[in-house]
Amino acid sequence: MRVLCILLLLTASLAQATTRVEGLRMWPSPERARLVFDISAPLEHRVFTLADPHRVVVDLAGATLAKPLEQPAADDRSLQRIRSAVRKKGDLRIVLDLKAKMRPKTFLLQPGNGHGHRLVLDLYPGDGAVAGTSAVKRVEPAQVLRDVVIAIDAGHGGVDPGAIGPRGTREKDVVFEIARELERAIAAERGMRPVLTRTGDYFLSLRKRIERARQHQADFFISIHADAFRDRRVRGASVYALSQRGATSEAARWLAKRENASDLIGGVSLEDKDNLLASVLLDLSQTATIEASLGAGEYMLKGLGRLGKLHKTRVQQAGFVVLKSPDIPSLLVETGFISNPSEEERLMQSRHRLAIARALVDGLRRYFGEHPPPGTILAARKHVITRGETLSEVAQHYKVSVDLLRATNDLKSDRIRVGQELRIPVASEG
Ligand SMILES: [Zn+2]
Repeated sequence: MRVLCILLLLTASLAQATTRVEGLRMWPSPERARLVFDISAPLEHRVFTLADPHRVVVDLAGATLAKPLEQPAADDRSLQRIRSAVRKKGDLRIVLDLKAKMRPKTFLLQPGNGHGHRLVLDLYPGDGAVAGTSAVKRVEPAQVLRDVVIAIDAGHGGVDPGAIGPRGTREKDVVFEIARELERAIAAERGMRPVLTRTGDYFLSLRKRIERARQHQADFFISIHADAFRDRRVRGASVYALSQRGATSEAARWLAKRENASDLIGGVSLEDKDNLLASVLLDLSQTATIEASLGAGEYMLKGLGRLGKLHKTRVQQAGFVVLKSPDIPSLLVETGFISNPSEEERLMQSRHRLAIARALVDGLRRYFGEHPPPGTILAARKHVITRGETLSEVAQHYKVSVDLLRATNDLKSDRIRVGQELRIPVASEG
């Protein structure tokens, strides 16, 4: 029994230490060859070059190959072949056999744009700074700025059609179309990334919707609905944030179940706090979250008000379950009354749905412009290049690495021009 326990512990710690290399994608180009390793988690790595014949060696700490690596095309200008070997302590070594001398640069990318964690290896032709070196060169992993994540929640779904309009339009269909429109609009925004809580026509419980947003570490949550009322003349959009009473009842729930909750509230675990401290922390977090929601909601109402008369001109507050994340600002948007014949017709028009999505994104842009979460692209400062400045000087000035600067600005080379605007990453406050 005891032996078994130790064995289980060993396998558990080994499993934790292993990062899978899930694939390799290559973009050959005369100016710079880019190799992207898709990895299951960030990892420690080092890169060095060897001569006679020219090779680039990448050592990945605690990594395994999920499948054999992609090989370069026969006419690839820089790469001959890619080999891999398992080294001691479960490290993975990848060797690139080169056709000519190349200068490697690496950096890590966090999940974004439909990809997971990535290790990027750029190969520049010629000698450059690390000419002829066979010495081991330590490459620090760069912390790349992340997107602000917006969780979009299309209300209802599956067996729950939501409200139904006089012409038979179902709320669940209309709000899903608006959610899709919003998803596209957010994906097109610099520094923002959308995630949908439900991606099709199926039932999803309210708690599950919150859970999805937490899983994706959303910075904001928007639930899309359409209203209904027995008086068909009632019309207009409205926006809801969580009420203080809803927050209080939710706090009681969190405190009651916190013994087995691995959740973090605003990055803080409540598990090891005594009752009073835990409730104070929770209360602070909830108050800040409601205030943030109200602020963003006002911006959205401004935009929605330009599309037609509003049902309520101020953000309303209610105890809706989907709004109960203690640390994710959350809004529920009633996009109009599906029970009003002319609004039902408008909600069926794709132009109107697009206009709603744009109004919501405008609100988000304004809100996050004023309150960018630390460590995100939106929190980056700007620097305009002046005559004679080099990329490494800019990096030095702001105390960030050149790799990070290059990755943040999607630069394909170190060439910059006068007047060019660079985003300068601001260190995360942790
Ligand atoms: Zn609804």
